[in-house]
Amino acid sequence: MAFAALPLTDTLARPLRDLRISVTDRCQFRCTYCMPREVFGRDFAFLPRAELLTFEELARLARVFAGLGVRKLRLTGGEPLLRRDLERLVAPLAGIGGIQDIALTTNGALLAGKARTLAAAGLNRVTVSLDSLDDAVFMALNDAGFPVARVLDAIDAAAEAGLAPVKVNMVVRRGVNDQSILPMAGHFRHSGHVLRFIEYMDVGTTNGWRLDDVVPAAEIISVIGRHWPLQPAEPAYRGEVARRYRYRDGGGEIGVIASVTQPFCRGCTRARLSADGQLYTCLFAGAGHDLRGPLRTGSSDHALREQISSIWTRRTDRYSEQRTSQTRRKQVKPKVEMSRIGG
Ligand code: SAM
Repeated sequence: MAFAALPLTDTLARPLRDLRISVTDRCQFRCTYCMPREVFGRDFAFLPRAELLTFEELARLARVFAGLGVRKLRLTGGEPLLRRDLERLVAPLAGIGGIQDIALTTNGALLAGKARTLAAAGLNRVTVSLDSLDDAVFMALNDAGFPVARVLDAIDAAAEAGLAPVKVNMVVRRGVNDQSILPMAGHFRHSGHVLRFIEYMDVGTTNGWRLDDVVPAAEIISVIGRHWPLQPAEPAYRGEVARRYRYRDGGGEIGVIASVTQPFCRGCTRARLSADGQLYTCLFAGAGHDLRGPLRTGSSDHALREQISSIWTRRTDRYSEQRTSQTRRKQVKPKVEMSRIGG
């Protein structure tokens, strides 16, 4: 069987460049917009350990993906640092030819104690989620009583360990934490860290999403720009989801991820691997493609490569673009398992 030609592209000519790997579906936070306690309560059935891909299986798949053109890996979850000894996954990933960048998205709760070990294993960068500098607002959002100071400590520890520039993700929800936009911008100006504002996304029936709750990226930029003038910056690379802006006074840069108001499906080069080995070609894809079965029933690397190629080359997803044109008519309801496939 002949190998697929590289670069591997889908039906919209989008190459496969990035792989997001969810290493667990568990999280110690219950962020109201992501894993609300009413849904992810005590009785929620998280994946049994045997169903999670092992580090060996993950590294093997990552090698196959790299052979198909993937250059960037991002570890996510759930909360990826809940997966014990994550550095034992990072190290083999860092040794894969062609992989240029390994990043981690985390809530920061366990990061301070792990940053050096992860950096030594080959992790390049981290993104830390933080939705407010106000403890009352942040704790109401994470619904786990977790204070802001510990996340800030984690960000410092990551930067000291060389996992820089640290990106900080803030999901903005109108009436909940939009008053935190300016304090967050003020805090991270001149810090060397890159604050990114994310439009609040609909994740199916779990977070009670309404369009009115979304603060459009354009509004965020205008609020900040009135205080500290901004100028647009060029994307750092093809497929970058954040639109970048620089403070005119040299205070650094910020980003906005306008997944709702300015969807970026056309430039999406990302595949997502769920904790139980399902390959999703879109965050909003209703179902994944099983890779764990073939992995565990003796498929060769060659066969895995052919399977992934055929999934990617048939990829048609442009869910967010289609939804934007339909939102006003409220026709489509997504089904997303953020806990399984990460954000
Ligand atoms: N536990 C890790 C963390 O907190 O960063 C990684 C997983 S989390 C699902 C990844 C990112 O998705 C976080 O930055 C989170 O804020 C974002 N996210 C989760 N739900 C979202 C939503 N409904 N809209 C926009 N972003 C969301």
